[in-house]
Amino acid sequence: MDPLVFSNMENTSNNRMAWIESQLSSLQQSVSTISDRPCKDAREVDEKVEHIRDTTKKLAESIHALIFDEKTALFNGIEEVKHASIDMKSTIKNLHRDLNSFQNRLKSQAGSSTASLSGNQFASPTQSDRRDNRLREILETQRQKFEAQIQAINVERKAAEAHWQAEFEASTSAREQIESMLSQQVEDEQERCRRLFEYIQILKGNIRVMCRIRPSLKDVSADDLVDFGPPERGQLSNNWAKMLLPVPRQRVTGEVVTDTKQFDFERVFGPDDSNESVYGEIRDLVQNSLMGGKVAIFCYGQSGSGKTFTMSHRESADELSPLDGIIPQALGTMFRAVHDQPRLFRYSFELSLVEIYKDDIFDLLISPKGGQKTKIRIDQAQWNPIDSWVEANEMLEKASRSRAVGTTNLNDYSSRSHLLLLLKTTRETLEGKRKGTIDSGLLNLVDLAGSERAAQSGAEGEQLREGITINQSLTSLNRLITSLGQGTQLSFDSTLTKVLRPCFSKDCKTLMFVNVSPLKSDFTQTVQTLQKAQEASKAKLASSTRRANPEDPATNKAKKKSPIAASGLPTHDPSPLSRRQSTPAEHPLRRVAGKVSSSARHPASKSTSTTRLPGLSSSRK
Ligand code: ADP
Repeated sequence: MDPLVFSNMENTSNNRMAWIESQLSSLQQSVSTISDRPCKDAREVDEKVEHIRDTTKKLAESIHALIFDEKTALFNGIEEVKHASIDMKSTIKNLHRDLNSFQNRLKSQAGSSTASLSGNQFASPTQSDRRDNRLREILETQRQKFEAQIQAINVERKAAEAHWQAEFEASTSAREQIESMLSQQVEDEQERCRRLFEYIQILKGNIRVMCRIRPSLKDVSADDLVDFGPPERGQLSNNWAKMLLPVPRQRVTGEVVTDTKQFDFERVFGPDDSNESVYGEIRDLVQNSLMGGKVAIFCYGQSGSGKTFTMSHRESADELSPLDGIIPQALGTMFRAVHDQPRLFRYSFELSLVEIYKDDIFDLLISPKGGQKTKIRIDQAQWNPIDSWVEANEMLEKASRSRAVGTTNLNDYSSRSHLLLLLKTTRETLEGKRKGTIDSGLLNLVDLAGSERAAQSGAEGEQLREGITINQSLTSLNRLITSLGQGTQLSFDSTLTKVLRPCFSKDCKTLMFVNVSPLKSDFTQTVQTLQKAQEASKAKLASSTRRANPEDPATNKAKKKSPIAASGLPTHDPSPLSRRQSTPAEHPLRRVAGKVSSSARHPASKSTSTTRLPGLSSSRK
């Protein structure tokens, strides 16, 4: 191998090692900053976690590329030895052949000279003998010379083979050490991210409420639009979180006065905010269900306020777009995780899609029979294994078709029923300390029936019964969320909450989107919806205060630690990362890598693979 190529390879490899070390040290710094200095707010924690996650990912990618390159270089080296060995064997063979033909030539020359000498009556026999002896001597010397050469070549070949074998064994063992050490580090960082996420959840509370204002769809005069006030920042973030609304009220005297009401949420998404911003805010929550968390996300609001757009919108039937709703995006997150670290985790998913209309539950993934959807009991919902986007896509389409059975106007019908997507996630850890651990999570995504159905007055017959059951189920859900926030007994007293029961335990994370219309004509409904949401927001306050207050009697003994300690994050102790920290020269990576022969290094040739996800087809109403 050309020594120049060699040294280039070594430089590239060293550069990459230096980069990895600098990233590791920046990672350590970020983690120490978080542990040593409390973050100002959840946003800062979010940013840091995001940074750590990014850096860890880049680090893991670079390390994998480095290992790949080292491995490739080793294999190339071994191939070269093999070729050299084949060449040497063929040279030796040629030398043997040359020697034989030389010997034969000498023999025949000796024979012919003896013959010519014996035929010569003037030649004396002693002279002929001398000539024979001389020829034999020459022949013997040549033979010995060739044999010495062959032996030297054989010794050289054996030494080269032994050398390369030793190099190969040393670098294989070094590679194994690097791989095991790195997968340990990646695992530690993932565990740290998980604990940081839990910590953020403690700060945010297990119940989160966000509001989304739908854009006005047609040309509507500004006079017909509600003024939702200036976008006021929240306590814990720079985003719009408070809403000031002028709410008219009639006095007993009949006089109408206007009160300004304040509504507080974790975040308010305005008419210009896209589904991408919405999903960006909640992606972590979806990812938490992949790590074994229980997560429920609801869209609550009057018909036409944008619940389905937020949950199920598809930009195109063929591809997943960042502008798609929460359901397709969440499924995208799931299947992306499958491709992210296939050597570390094995995932499996089971999907159930049900609809609740009045008190009846329909399994949307069982094909309708005789123009009728399949009615089921609560415990009968089918769990359908899904292995790919294509399957998830087919199931969403099937559910959409089943939902439309027996209705002339799906839009109207769907606003009178609840749609529930339930996804069981199972993650098996394949390597490291947690090898063999199974984490089982649950994600519930719910597009609720229109809240105005609950408030409709003057309805009769079927419509009245419909309104009553919607009202009961939404009230029961609100009660459940409030109990969850207050840490009181949970009661499951409606079909909706009974179906959601597996998800609702104390450690469940709940997010409610409150969708509102921007139109003045919907203002009464909007205010009622916001007031309901405010109740859930208060429950959120209770949940986060309780979790953050170690003196709270409702907090159990284990929670008497500070939120940081409870989250398992290091406080004063140096983090395992900083404990591991060493000078660049002593860095464990460098130590192990140092054992790899420089001749086994190879110029960087990182191959990146991008996974294109097949899209779910449109499930638009
Ligand atoms: P709901 O499910 O609450 O009844 P929809 O999601 O069906 O309401 O929304 C009603 C209409 O408004 C639909 O045509 C939908 O496409 C549109 N819409 C809702 N939210 C948005 C948004 N953020 N951007 C653009 N169009 C929206």
